[in-house]
Amino acid sequence: MSGHNSSELQVLCSSGQLFLQPLWDRLRTWEVLLQSPFFPVIFSITTYVGFCLPFVVLDILGPWVPALRRYKIHPNFSPSARQLLPCLGQTLYQHAVFVFPVTLLYWARSPVLLHREAPELLQLVSHVVLCLLLFDAEVFVWHVLHHKVPWLYRTFHKMHHQNSSTFALATQYMSVWELFSLGFFDMLNITLLGCHPLTVLTFHVVNIWLSVEDHSGYDFPWSTHRWVPFGWYGGVAHHDLHHSQFNCNFAPYFTHWDKILGTLKPAPLPAC
Ligand SMILES: [Zn+2]
Ligand SMILES: [Zn+2]
Repeated sequence: MSGHNSSELQVLCSSGQLFLQPLWDRLRTWEVLLQSPFFPVIFSITTYVGFCLPFVVLDILGPWVPALRRYKIHPNFSPSARQLLPCLGQTLYQHAVFVFPVTLLYWARSPVLLHREAPELLQLVSHVVLCLLLFDAEVFVWHVLHHKVPWLYRTFHKMHHQNSSTFALATQYMSVWELFSLGFFDMLNITLLGCHPLTVLTFHVVNIWLSVEDHSGYDFPWSTHRWVPFGWYGGVAHHDLHHSQFNCNFAPYFTHWDKILGTLKPAPLPAC
């Protein structure tokens, strides 16, 4: 909490910022890294690969540890090295050749400004939830369109459907257009809401985790969909049905848009 005197602390307490201020003060000591033009790409790749890695290890252990199969959506499926490596290669290639130049241009136009004050906890949580809901709605419309128009499907979305049984590293196996569309929706919402940089980081971590979990092929007792009541959140089995049947469950995370438009197909009841 260094750098704040007692009157500032009182203000922070009353505004609900105190909870996040120590974390934000710590992050701001890495200001040079956070404001670097390389940070968005480094952050995106390390978070993504970091979240994929435990699932890759489970997939490698799968044939020797039968107990793991009870958590798998497709118990007899394990991705081979010939499936895993092209997916990883595609992610690294697209980030180096396409994402990095674009983030560099964005950084040059609007360098990252690190506010001194942390956001209020309630504001951070509400902005992350709003960003997720908006992202879910935008991707739902994009996704339906790219399935209903055959040219759009063939040209831009078919690549993501190459793996009918999904695995973590297949999450970002997609065309450059699809990757940029998702990135655009992501940036649009945080800009519209005027999110604090800490909120932006939190939203990106949550968004990357949920997308990897959706494709992981594992339905664990602690999976996100089990924490959200009333079937509001789809989860891994829900998105797996989209990959195997194509005509249902278009929303990436929540179920309300598919329910309203009659494209919701409930996933089979979990075994655990
Ligand atoms: Zn699709
Ligand atoms: Zn998918």
